[in-house]
Amino acid sequence: MELLKSRFGGTETCRGARLLAKFTVVCLECGRTHAALALRCDNGCNSLLRTQYAAKSFRPGAAANLFRFLDWLPCSDGLETTVGPVIHRCERFGRRLGLARLFCCFNGYWPEIGARNPTCTFKDFEALPTLRAFADAGRRRIVVASAGNTARAFAHAAAAAAVDVDVVVPEGMLHRLWLPASQPVDRVRVIAVKGSSDYNAAIQMADEIARRCAIATEGGARNVARRDGLGTVMLEAARMLGRLPRHYFQAVGSGTGAIAAFEAALRLTGDRRFAGAAMPRLHLSQSSPFLPIHRAWRDRTAVDPAASWDRPGEEVYASVLANRNPPYALRGGVRDALAASGGDVYAVSAGSAHEAGQAFADAEGIDLDPAAAVAAASLAQAVAAGAVAAGDLVLLNVTGGGFERLRRDYGLRQLAADLVLEPGDVEGAAALTALCATG
Ligand SMILES: *Cc1c(COP(=O)(O)O)cnc(C)c1O
Repeated sequence: MELLKSRFGGTETCRGARLLAKFTVVCLECGRTHAALALRCDNGCNSLLRTQYAAKSFRPGAAANLFRFLDWLPCSDGLETTVGPVIHRCERFGRRLGLARLFCCFNGYWPEIGARNPTCTFKDFEALPTLRAFADAGRRRIVVASAGNTARAFAHAAAAAAVDVDVVVPEGMLHRLWLPASQPVDRVRVIAVKGSSDYNAAIQMADEIARRCAIATEGGARNVARRDGLGTVMLEAARMLGRLPRHYFQAVGSGTGAIAAFEAALRLTGDRRFAGAAMPRLHLSQSSPFLPIHRAWRDRTAVDPAASWDRPGEEVYASVLANRNPPYALRGGVRDALAASGGDVYAVSAGSAHEAGQAFADAEGIDLDPAAAVAAASLAQAVAAGAVAAGDLVLLNVTGGGFERLRRDYGLRQLAADLVLEPGDVEGAAALTALCATG
């Protein structure tokens, strides 16, 4: 293999050429084309980049996972996995709300309907295509700062994509890192930041590790592999329903999933079967008191990352939604997607989220992630406000759920720290240098 590589120009080049033919990454502001994993426009535009695929018609493949949409994912191949979106008709929950055509995309673990996402949220859809795209580019290591769904999804995807994943977490949040008990973890390294439950210290540490070890960051919402992975929710809805939904409901933190749903719908209208269809209206939701996107949209202002969202004694109901720096006002960001789809952003109290989550569980028989409960509550709000009519085709993105089911079926394996570092102590940290050497 090595010999072949050096003599004939290398397999990477072949793969690169194939990918180039499959898609390009384009700036929405100036139209300039970029390299496959580019995160920002070379021209300095304040815009997201977006993938443009050579395939214009919608032709799902045979894979029984999200790679059935490989034509519209920015990677060379699929991976063996059970990860993927599943559409489920919510007949009973719909009836409670007075909706005749309510469907959810269930992105957690619920084997009876075919949903087998091993970390129980749609972060699995971001992690796999991202790591597959990394592998295409010859990148074999990634650093992720997260203590929640993102960390678990990337830790899980590491084995499937054969990419090493360093997860950096505040030590106080280590308990949130688990995987299904049968999951191999030899490609995962957990780095805990001592004593803290401060997420910022973990982000700084991850940045420092990435810089010192010359590891490129994956880019969050700017990463097209993340967005196109999340976009498979809309693609699966189109595949199963044969049309675009009138309304799309989702709880948002960064808003990446919402932008992705919009982009996927837009891509579908490039196929003649969906040409001219109205964009699904984005009904986004956040959990009180943490409402940066809700406020910015309602008041037509910028997102204020410095705002104090904390009220004494009040916890954010769904902590995955507490993002202070969503990609809101840049070109192609959350605001543009809301405006272009005639969307809206709802504020949901902890009480009504809890109630909606319970109602969904009673009606459909599966537990929801708190964020998905927030989305369910926003749907009830929209119905009450008359924003959704009884006969409208509605897609509720159940971004996560089935944790209890997964625990029962598989058991959970708690991840332990491989390395504990002092916060800020990166300069002198011999441990960190050793870390780079082994990477
Ligand atoms: C991350 C997450 C969200 C929010 O998604 P964004 O793309 O960050 O807006 C919603 N629900 C669950 C379960 C999540 O993990």
